[in-house]
Order: sequence, then structure tokens, then C-alpha cells
Amino acid sequence: MLQPLIDFVRDHYHTNDFIPLHVPVFGGNEKAYVAETIDSTFVSSVGAFVDRFEQDMAAYTGSPRAVATVNGTAALHVALRLVDVGPSDYVITQPLTFVATCNAIAYCGAMPIFVDVDRHTLGLSPKALAEWLEAHAYRDDRGLCRRREGNGVIRACLPMHTFGHPADLDGLLRVCTDWGLALVEDAAESLGSTYHGRHTGTVGDVGTLSFNGNKVITTGGGGMILADQALGKRAKHLTTTAKQPHVYEYVHDELGYNYRLPNLNAALGCAQLEQLDAYLTEKRQLAADYAACLAGSDVTFVTEPAGCRSNYWLNAVICTDHEQRDQLLKATNEQGIMTRPIWQLMNRLPMYNHAPAGELSNALWLEARVVNLPSGIRAGEEELG
Ligand SMILES: *Cc1c(COP(=O)(O)O)cnc(C)c1O
Repeated sequence: MLQPLIDFVRDHYHTNDFIPLHVPVFGGNEKAYVAETIDSTFVSSVGAFVDRFEQDMAAYTGSPRAVATVNGTAALHVALRLVDVGPSDYVITQPLTFVATCNAIAYCGAMPIFVDVDRHTLGLSPKALAEWLEAHAYRDDRGLCRRREGNGVIRACLPMHTFGHPADLDGLLRVCTDWGLALVEDAAESLGSTYHGRHTGTVGDVGTLSFNGNKVITTGGGGMILADQALGKRAKHLTTTAKQPHVYEYVHDELGYNYRLPNLNAALGCAQLEQLDAYLTEKRQLAADYAACLAGSDVTFVTEPAGCRSNYWLNAVICTDHEQRDQLLKATNEQGIMTRPIWQLMNRLPMYNHAPAGELSNALWLEARVVNLPSGIRAGEEELG
């Protein structure tokens, strides 16, 4: 499996140089749009590209409203505020995620509760969620979901669409409805992925995207809140210092944030979004080619869940055991092909190792076996050197 895989990656990227996991490619209107912001002097917190990026992203995802932010973590922080997550609350999330998911919960003064993932989606498991709630939570006479231990309010559930593969949103929505929990989707990795035809991040109460440099498209740094009109309006208010519109007075009516995406970054985003569909086509083909290359080997290539369309942001394999995982990581990295293990589980990090956690056997199983393979878009032939 190892040598054919290495040969395949070298052949696909057509180079003997180092092959990164995922790097941005700028082959469209990026330079023209960024130059336009400089020429106009509107490089900062207001400008036509911010409005256009928000409108284009709302249209692309089918979200009633899209609000641009300075990064995906800030988007997630405000998304949780939108569903009233506050100090001493709890938010249920998955241990198998990037640290930003948990950090956003902590920024609200809330604490994560870790519940297991499903092996076929890599995302939060509705079954594990329901079981944890049955055993550890109750609904009070106002309908609030509370922990049996200490009576703290569990405000929301925050699944993440791992590597672009949608979590089981119908299942999660059902459990959240039963228990009075808000559903916030961390769709940072899944721009372009759909769940039963609906864009990820638009199924729950609110969703968030990231345009960091390693994501499907980038604004340098940036993020987006996807919400309905009412929550979207409030998101805009909170992310722009909670300033009331006035011709000249400074009236800030609550604690807000300076989480605006600069126009300079939005210009990059508009140009990148124009190319997203082409990127997704190329990524889908690469995933199919990886699957074909690995067919018949003992590693399992991770494919989109039934009824979903994944953006295949980062291709992933599940090794038979930890030893094979290490062999794969060592052989590829030694040969200049960047591969990476999946994240360490969040419940082991010093900030979160006191947080409540359910039984996490699938997360542990995946943590020991999953490896990401190079997944970036190829640059134009003239840039290949
Ligand atoms: C990238 C990412 C984010 C947001 O990251 P930013 O760098 O702040 O844009 C949040 N959650 C997950 C799972 C991510 O992968």
C-alpha cells in the first residue's frame, strides 16, 4: 500500500519537491480585486467587497443571511452568543475536533461536554448524544435542559463536520428538539458540503465557516456566520461593536466585538468563491482516485456519508491499527509527502481535561488510526516549475 500511495501522490501533483497537506491557490481575480480595494482606499472594516462576499456566500449556501467575521473562531464565538450561551452554561460537542470548537465555548464562559462521534461520519453521534442526555440530564419545569450533577444549564449542541464530511444532522436535530437544545454547526471545514441537499451550516439554528489559509477557500484569515434574518441581524450588531446606527453619535448598546472582516480580505474571498465549484470538482476527482489507489489494501479510505455530498477538504484514511498509522506517517513524511494524524482528543488537553465526558470509544479508536493525505488544489501548469 505504501509505495503505490506515494507514487500516486507524486504523480498527481506532478513534482519531486515537497508536497504539503493543503495550500491555497490564487489563479483567478484575486490580485485584481485586492488592488481594487487599495485603489479605493477602502481596505478596512467597511467596503463593497464585504457586502458582496456576504451576499455571494448567502446565495451559495442558501442561508437567509451571512455575516463575515475576522476568522472562524470569532464566528463560532458569536454563533454561541446568538443562542444565549453564557457563563457557567454547558455546550455538548465532540472530542474529535480542532481546538477552536472548544475555545469558542470557553470564550463564552461556558464549558464543553464531550460526547462520542460516529465512525462513519467522524462527527457527533446522535445515539451517543441521546444516551448521554438520558443518563445525565433532565428538563426543568421551564423546559431548560440541565445536568443532573450540579443542575447547570446545557444550552446547545455543537457538532463539527470533520474534514468536510457532514455529521448526521437529522439525528442530531431530533435529539436537540427533544431536549430543548440549540443546534450550532461548526462548518469551518465543510464549505461546499451538503446534507440531503442542504448546505452544511444551514440546518441548525446557526452555522459557521472558516476561510483560514488551509481551508477550501481562503481570505487570508476570515469566517462567516450563517443564520436566519433575525439572528443574522443580531450577529452583524455583535460583530461590529454593537453600535446603533446614528449619523454622528457613538451609541453602543451592549458588549460587542470588533470581529469584522476587512474589505481587503473580503476581496480575496470574492475571487476565491468564484473558483469554488472548480476546486470542488478537482477535490472530488482526487478523492475518487485515492479510493481507487487504496482499493484492495487494508487501509480504509473515508468517503462521504450516505445522502451527503462532501467537499473532501482533507482526504483521510483509517489504518488497521496505531502501528500501521505510524508507519504511514513516517514513510510519507520522510519522502517529502506531508501527512498528518488526526487531532489529539480535546478531553486530554489541559484546558478541557476536567470537562464532563461520556463514553468515547469511537473517538479513541479513530484517534489511534486516522491519517490525512495531501488534498490541495493543483496550481496552474505554469506555476509547477
Ligand atoms: C479552521 C477551523 C475553525 C476556525 O478556525 P479559524 O482559524 O479561526 O478560522 C473552527 N473549527 C474547526 C473544526 C476548524 O477546522
